[in-house]
Amino acid sequence: MLLKQDFHIHTHCSCDSANASIAEIVQACQSAGYEHFGISDHLHTKFNMPDVEISRREFLEYGEVKGFHFGLEISCATAWECEKIAKRDFASCFTCEVNGRPFQTMTPIDGIMYGGPKNGPLMLDITQEDVDRLGIEYIIGGVHKPNYTDQNPKDMIDDFFNQSCFMLNHELVDILAHPWAGLAFWSSYNIVTHDPADLNPEVFLLIPQEYWDELAHLMVTNNKLAELNRCNLFNPNEKMAHFLMEKMIEWKEKGVKFTFATDLHKAPYPDTTKASELLTKYGFTEDDFALPPRLKI
Ligand SMILES: [Zn+2]
Ligand SMILES: [Zn+2]
Repeated sequence: MLLKQDFHIHTHCSCDSANASIAEIVQACQSAGYEHFGISDHLHTKFNMPDVEISRREFLEYGEVKGFHFGLEISCATAWECEKIAKRDFASCFTCEVNGRPFQTMTPIDGIMYGGPKNGPLMLDITQEDVDRLGIEYIIGGVHKPNYTDQNPKDMIDDFFNQSCFMLNHELVDILAHPWAGLAFWSSYNIVTHDPADLNPEVFLLIPQEYWDELAHLMVTNNKLAELNRCNLFNPNEKMAHFLMEKMIEWKEKGVKFTFATDLHKAPYPDTTKASELLTKYGFTEDDFALPPRLKI
């Protein structure tokens, strides 16, 4: 099977540590022979909007390229944090990890991580007007942090599930990013370490079957796509990588369609031959992939 698309690529404009230029991305995707590809920098909350605006400007300055699209990766935020961002009230924001220690910062670059109400209303910090103004052709919705949930597997699974359902019911979302990725990190005992021994890699086994089934149901009925993301395909825990692929096959058999994602952060753009071989091994064909539903071509 030949991969013909990658809709999840970060540019150096992204609010995180991504570093690829648009020129590098375009050249690499053209060499890979993709028919369609797109950049999708992060918008956790409106705080990141200036970065997305720069990304859009660079996209337009690069000029038209056949099959090259402008997308966005949005996080599921809470109404509580979006309101605080709007008021520039950042006192409770938190970014983890500097030399292994948590620290307080006045810039809620990843959203406001702590202090919000449990089970509060969820929100995507974007409007249709923003989408139109920025020419955003498709949106990938991702769970990137727990929304003020206790750090234990059961509550974290419920939180990830609720956020995923919220995004799959949202009219602006086309694709569910990296399903359940991050769960091993956020349900571990110590989030400020990079030591794999502190992760909870087998947490995926605790996800109830009805959650997998409900996500598949929402994708099919709401015309959304699931992402086959490199971070899931190549989960460092082999058993989990296999388990996650088996779940993707279940989704495929229920009629779910997919997009492929390198989720590039660090240039150079990778060789995707291995990903393609792995997907072929698991029985995926070109027919299992689709274009984001709102993409106009
Ligand atoms: Zn993501
Ligand atoms: Zn991403």
